[in-house]
Amino acid sequence: MSNFRPQPRPGVLSISPYVPGKSGAPGVAKVFKLSSNESPLGPSPKAIAAYRGVGEHLEDYPDGAATRLREAIGRVYGLDPARIVCGAGSDDLLNLIARAYLADGDEAIHTTHGFLVYPIATLGTGAKPVVAAEKNLTTDVDAILAAVTPRTKVVFLANPNNPTGTYIPYDEVKRLHRGLRPDILLVLDAAYAEYVRRNDYATGLELVAENDNVVMCRTFSKIHALAALRLGWMVGPAHVVDAVNRIRGPFNVNAPAIEAGIAAVEDAEHIERSRQHNERWLPWLTEEIGKLGLTVTPSVANFILIHFPGTDGKTATAADAFLTARGLVLRSVAGYGLPNALRMSIGTEEANRLLVAALGEFMGATA
Ligand SMILES: *Cc1c(COP(=O)(O)O)cnc(C)c1O
Repeated sequence: MSNFRPQPRPGVLSISPYVPGKSGAPGVAKVFKLSSNESPLGPSPKAIAAYRGVGEHLEDYPDGAATRLREAIGRVYGLDPARIVCGAGSDDLLNLIARAYLADGDEAIHTTHGFLVYPIATLGTGAKPVVAAEKNLTTDVDAILAAVTPRTKVVFLANPNNPTGTYIPYDEVKRLHRGLRPDILLVLDAAYAEYVRRNDYATGLELVAENDNVVMCRTFSKIHALAALRLGWMVGPAHVVDAVNRIRGPFNVNAPAIEAGIAAVEDAEHIERSRQHNERWLPWLTEEIGKLGLTVTPSVANFILIHFPGTDGKTATAADAFLTARGLVLRSVAGYGLPNALRMSIGTEEANRLLVAALGEFMGATA
């Protein structure tokens, strides 16, 4: 019977659909959404104003080339706008890269707890996701290099990674690149780059500029707090930009996103405020949650991974239910192979303090 109806291409039905972080807590008056790494400070007020301004002209198609947005990004990052492509979130760009560079029988590598969009985008093309083991929940360059085969076409690397919050130093990224054949595309996903305060970290823009096989994806969903608008950008060599531009939707970025994005990327003060908020609360949460006897993976991003003992009722599932009942909505990461951990986005001061108090209660409660 199933042969007599349309069949999706091989790979599509192997995809485990992406499960977004929960956004609600039924019956709770005040909800703190700490499940998708959105910024607790919200977007720049200038971005909100720019977004509202577009409401007067919803009949017009947006600029399909997002020219003014690419120019603004180019000014802020010192990049040639011609090397930038904007997308409906970095999801869009990651999928476009997969579609442009992967086909049946090809392989794309990501790490054990790499962002779930990588295997989804890979399987959608008929190619095979290949998992490179991590060490201590951190990217292991040697494992990635060992996973390369003649069929490898793409390597996806989130640095820092989500959901682990860990990173590898720039020297390691360069060593990875040196070890890859020149026909393998290295995709650096720097969604959380703005938060990282480590001397040995770099996003890799220089690697993109100097090579024919490196691209970088960035997002407006995290520090810029425009997740609702779906906006991201990538920068790469001219030939990759050309390929991606050929297959992207002609109007893949909407007009409100373009205008809000320009205002957001230019609001250095707001970005700095968001960074400082994170710099204050990331170490505080790591320490306070550690004091409760829970392990927190050291994070350089705007979220932490909290590990539960998994015994005596102290499971991630039980903690999730306990916290949700108090309006504290964290992210289950069972889909990432971390059934006894929860990921928490750094929240407002109020949310962070409530979370530590509630977790203390949870850990103290007898099973
Ligand atoms: C959140 C996130 C993104 C951003 O995705 P958008 O589609 O731009 O919202 C990209 N990569 C990683 C690793 C992320 O965690």
